[in-house]
Amino acid sequence: MNTPPPTVVLVYQRTTLPWVFDSAERAGIRLILVPRPDEDVAPDRLPPAVTDLLRLDLDRDRAGALATLRKLYETTPFQGICTLYDPAVPFVAEAAELLGLPGIGREAALGAQDKRVMRDRLAAAGLNTPRFVRLEDPSGWEAAAHLDFPVVVKPAHGFSSLGVTKADGPERLKAVVEEVWQVCRDKLGRVEGLVVEEYLDGPEFAVESLAHRGEVTVCAIGYKGEPEGPYFEESVYRAPAVLPPAVEDAVRREVVAAHTALGITDGPTHTELRLRGGERPYLLELGARIGGSGVSQYIVQHVTGLDFAADALRIAAGLPPVSFGGGTPAATGAAANYIVPCGGSGRIAAVHGLAELRDDPRVDHVVQMLFPGDVVRPYPDFTGYPAFVLSRHATTAEAEEFHQGLETAIRVEYTVEYTPEGGA
Ligand code: ADP
Repeated sequence: MNTPPPTVVLVYQRTTLPWVFDSAERAGIRLILVPRPDEDVAPDRLPPAVTDLLRLDLDRDRAGALATLRKLYETTPFQGICTLYDPAVPFVAEAAELLGLPGIGREAALGAQDKRVMRDRLAAAGLNTPRFVRLEDPSGWEAAAHLDFPVVVKPAHGFSSLGVTKADGPERLKAVVEEVWQVCRDKLGRVEGLVVEEYLDGPEFAVESLAHRGEVTVCAIGYKGEPEGPYFEESVYRAPAVLPPAVEDAVRREVVAAHTALGITDGPTHTELRLRGGERPYLLELGARIGGSGVSQYIVQHVTGLDFAADALRIAAGLPPVSFGGGTPAATGAAANYIVPCGGSGRIAAVHGLAELRDDPRVDHVVQMLFPGDVVRPYPDFTGYPAFVLSRHATTAEAEEFHQGLETAIRVEYTVEYTPEGGA
């Protein structure tokens, strides 16, 4: 008798970001999609891998969402549950634990999602860690005044750099802490604390890894630019990063050790780190998920020729990975993501330079997220990125050259300057 294809519940993935859906299709894995509450998904225009939709509201009714999953599992069992959306990682870990499905477990999810716990665990394991202070309340800001400045203030449960802000000197600390606290309240819907940590000088890198039964394969390392703040907008992602072998080894060792420190034994991870002094890796964070809402799949697939997300979904379903495991895959090409900067704030009149790229043979995807008419609010508010441009190249140097061209070719034009008081 043929075994039916495995089914995985995929939580809060936008259908406009196709990579993980394409991988599922290639791997013969069926998906039950839990759409974002704010996304209008048309049941007749779903990616082919999606066989069902399941509406859950994790924020407003977590218990109800768990109960619905249990009911579904009892009537039509599925083999796994996963997410690429960082705030949903703890929910997914809890649901998997309750249903006896593969997962990282609640304890590991806590360390991967709460930056206070992550910093504590990484430091306890002797990993490179900036000095840091946890703040449970903004009035306690003085507890962080003894750190070496600049420092970075960030929400304990943040994602997408939301609210992450640099304070150049102690005289700015109080105001920055209050500002970040406000962002937590307004944008994250929860105020559970902040982390203040010393600023790490140096270029930034992303590391895509896959863990299976405690064995961690570092699949790709990419360059992420060198954002200097005070707000940290993402800009580029180019892989494979060109690093001296000894530095690359140090990065791999640090990332593997972080998995051990955080107890992450199974599934994909997306680690961000900075190289202090250009050579010593300091983790910024390790997310227990595929990065960039699936962009990391595109990057790994085109750097290694292997299907990263398909293996991640297999692991979620309790199956062994078939492409990755053990050794380090060799790079077969370069892949890149150019994240179009907002370049200001106000109501968007036009996004110039994107249409031309659709015919460029190097470009596989132009994913536009902000359109004429949309309002981009000024930092520290974060509206989102106007667009991603995903491209393939023979070498990372060619990707860099391509990105330099995009810096002038793409421009967001605004109609009126937006002011929070006056509206837009
Ligand atoms: P989030 O999960 O919200 O993305 P991160 O901790 O990854 O928060 O921080 C977002 C960005 O802010 C990082 O990619 C990095 O550019 C910058 N950043 C955060 N912490 C530091 C630090 N200690 N030193 C330098 N830059 C930092």
